[in-house]
Amino acid sequence: MNDMQKIVVLGAGYAGMRMVKKLAKAKIDAQIVLVNKNTYHYQSTELHEVAAGTKEPADITFDVKQVFAKKRNVQVVIDEVTKIDQDTKTVELKDSGSLSYDYLVNALGFESETFGIKGAEENGLPLIDIDTALAARKHLEDTLKRYKTSHDENDLKIVVCGAGFTSIEYLGELVYRLPDLAKEYGFPIDKVKIDCIEAGPKILGMFEPKLADWGVKFLESKGVTFHVSTPITEVKPNAVVSNDTEFPANTIIWTTGVHGSHVIADSGYDEKRNRVVVEDDLRVKGQPDQFLIGDVSAVPNPDNGRLYPTTAQISIAQADCAAENLVSLINGGTTKKFVFKSLGTVCSLGPKTGIASIDMMGHWNLKGWLAAVSKKMIADRSTLELADIRTMLETD
Ligand code: NAD
Repeated sequence: MNDMQKIVVLGAGYAGMRMVKKLAKAKIDAQIVLVNKNTYHYQSTELHEVAAGTKEPADITFDVKQVFAKKRNVQVVIDEVTKIDQDTKTVELKDSGSLSYDYLVNALGFESETFGIKGAEENGLPLIDIDTALAARKHLEDTLKRYKTSHDENDLKIVVCGAGFTSIEYLGELVYRLPDLAKEYGFPIDKVKIDCIEAGPKILGMFEPKLADWGVKFLESKGVTFHVSTPITEVKPNAVVSNDTEFPANTIIWTTGVHGSHVIADSGYDEKRNRVVVEDDLRVKGQPDQFLIGDVSAVPNPDNGRLYPTTAQISIAQADCAAENLVSLINGGTTKKFVFKSLGTVCSLGPKTGIASIDMMGHWNLKGWLAAVSKKMIADRSTLELADIRTMLETD
């Protein structure tokens, strides 16, 4: 194929950024257009730190145009994708009309999941992007600060909804920062009440029981109370409800999970929670010119048939495979199957500690500062879920 091909990549998250970086270096006659809503990429795996105030937005964001400034074959369009017309091969944008493509890479990412629970959207504070993380931080700080004049005990009560990775990592940063906040705003730290409410029967169930226990006990020792098998049924402005029990709090963090971008359903894909089960080479069924990667995709694990969890680690691996496949197609070749080997999982419990289950050169369970160090080392090698974008985007 000799004509210059137009590849449109949607979303500058981990998957989209990695994809464009790979394509920009490939030997193909193609123009690459990257569309993103914001001018910046943010490291979604570090949003909980911005929300707790242990990191600033500048620490976890990168200007997208700047990253690709030297790549003449890459054009960055800052606009919001509203719909994809798969029949006419066009992408509709909110402000600048539409874009046609020869090949599409859809990496539009995730949104907060409320499961339709009454009041969750209005009264819970999600952590899904920089704006929501900053809003959660402002709410937390304003509410704790207000206690000095309000003497309302609910101002010192915080409920974290769900006990997935985002909740647990947020709790770790929160308990780390609280002593400084108490000093700054003059509230009694011993009166602060933190409840974490989880529908499932276990906390940190993805780790081996001994390691999970260590993590749970660490957070409990810092004042967190866990409530398992407690499904949230309603969120009121000042309380979280699970059937007949109410947990009063003036700060309610909503971290019960994510689904894919609403553009997926709006564009008529065969989806579930805005995620599309892709073919084994990461293309969309019936759309040979389209790849779907990152949190909008669902990939069955061939070993057990279950879908892989949506993580930064898998997004990066998908981008590498899809980029190779796309380059091969443009050059008249065939595609290969996506194969994923997890290198492990790290869950931070604040900036200085955590737990980790690593599968590199054997199997390792780490806890405490060693896990924190491993997180840094792993990030530098851009291999695990907390891959550092600076390393990830380096050119070879
Ligand atoms: P999640 O889906 O992993 O966790 C959400 C939790 O909320 C679940 O435990 C679920 O049982 C609970 N929940 C759902 N509805 C509830 C209800 N009504 N009442 C009470 N509890 C309820 O979501 P997440 O933590 O946002 O993570 C999203 C993805 O990102 C996951 O795949 C996760 O592995 C990944 N992630 C990984 C890391 C890491 O590896 N360090 C960090 C952050 C996120």
